[in-house]
Amino acid sequence: MKQWSQVDARVVSAGEEVLRRLEDAGHKAYWVGGCVRDEVMGRPVHDMDIATSARPEMVIQLFERCIPTGLQHGTVTVLINKQAFEVTTFRKETEYEDHRRPAAVEFVDAVLEDLKRRDFTMNAMAMDIDGNLIDPFCGREDIKAGVIRCVGEADERFEEDALRMVRAIRFASVFGFTPTLSTWRAVIRNRDKMDYIAIERIRAEFEKILYGPDPLRGLELLSRSQLLENSKLPTVQVQTQPDMLRKLPLLPAVPADLRLSLLVQGLGIETESIPGLLKKWTFPNRDAEGTVSLIRFDQEWMEQLRARNSRSAEEIEKSLRPHWVVLELAYGQGTAGLWISRMQTLLESTNRTDHLLPINREQLKILEDWHTAIPVHHVRELKVKGNEVLEESGRPGGPWLGSLMKQLLYSVAAGDVPNTKEDLLNEVKRMVNLSEA
Ligand code: ATP
Ligand code: MG
Repeated sequence: MKQWSQVDARVVSAGEEVLRRLEDAGHKAYWVGGCVRDEVMGRPVHDMDIATSARPEMVIQLFERCIPTGLQHGTVTVLINKQAFEVTTFRKETEYEDHRRPAAVEFVDAVLEDLKRRDFTMNAMAMDIDGNLIDPFCGREDIKAGVIRCVGEADERFEEDALRMVRAIRFASVFGFTPTLSTWRAVIRNRDKMDYIAIERIRAEFEKILYGPDPLRGLELLSRSQLLENSKLPTVQVQTQPDMLRKLPLLPAVPADLRLSLLVQGLGIETESIPGLLKKWTFPNRDAEGTVSLIRFDQEWMEQLRARNSRSAEEIEKSLRPHWVVLELAYGQGTAGLWISRMQTLLESTNRTDHLLPINREQLKILEDWHTAIPVHHVRELKVKGNEVLEESGRPGGPWLGSLMKQLLYSVAAGDVPNTKEDLLNEVKRMVNLSEA
């Protein structure tokens, strides 16, 4: 048995059970692709894919629990001991149409044929249950040398599926590798074929660059290759805001809004076009909404800060805190918290003269205190209900009720009124009297 160093032993033994059962039934079966590459590189392995000579119908017969994930491509997900493995029949891809994934696949009997259709030498390795490496294209050597090299002729590979060019840049960026000269030249020669690739496939690779350890390297390679120049993604001009973009790797990759917001701001994209742009890029709605919210919060807050730059600390407290509370209520606790953590990270790596950050650590600490002190963020958290307010006021209902509830929310959020029924009803009385006076 091969000792995998980068995976949980339970996952390995469940997968070995899959390999063994396939082999006992007379088929060939191997670990393949990313998991073998990551193990060879000493990187954490995430999914362990299996390739086999068994046809999908056979795989389904051999295992009790299967999901027919992509039968037409030969993929069955096998569930075993609470683990899931994609088991794909050895295949050859033919009939690539329009420079994207093949229209048809042909099942074959030899693992070598299957490895031949893969994109890069480091991704075209297989390993058997005993840990013997099958490495027909010298992927291990390329990993050692830190290079990305196509399997076979780079021009052919990129012509078949143009996404591979973005994948080359993704792997270069995430692993700190360099494409071989012939691979890079083929990228330049074939870059116009990107137009055929669905934006979601590009976005998935782009996200791996963005959330990886060195996004700037990927952005620079994308920019130099001009791969995305004609695609629906905007030109990545790294020069626009290099200071800001350089800080990308400092931010955590999760939640996505942190890096995504810095990216679009760093690229100098107009705020109004950001929601549409992220939608066009097919970023998940949740990420796009969070990002836009974070950027708007940042801009509105920065405006407030700049307008009050020269005031004393007490004046800042007095004049700025109400704005912070209003903004936090408008954009939500999550956005305010993310803004603070984004600013903390940016400040940690900055010198005092950084023009991008018109705030220092001491000031940020004050904002953090304001943020943690806000006890409520929604009208529903108030200890008084709309009908009780109505009764107390002795007035007929109307739109005024909604605005009064909002005012109550603000007063509690700002710490002016405690969140108890008695205090809130007193406040209602005071406000009603005030408006009637
Ligand atoms: P990751 O670690 O991000 O999952 P990966 O190499 O496993 O990287 P996947 O997209 O999961 O990438 O693909 C699994 C394997 O399938 C790859 O290692 C490669 O062998 C093959 N592969 C994936 N996409 C392509 C492609 N567009 N062209 C050729 N082979 C591909
Ligand atoms: Mg993978």
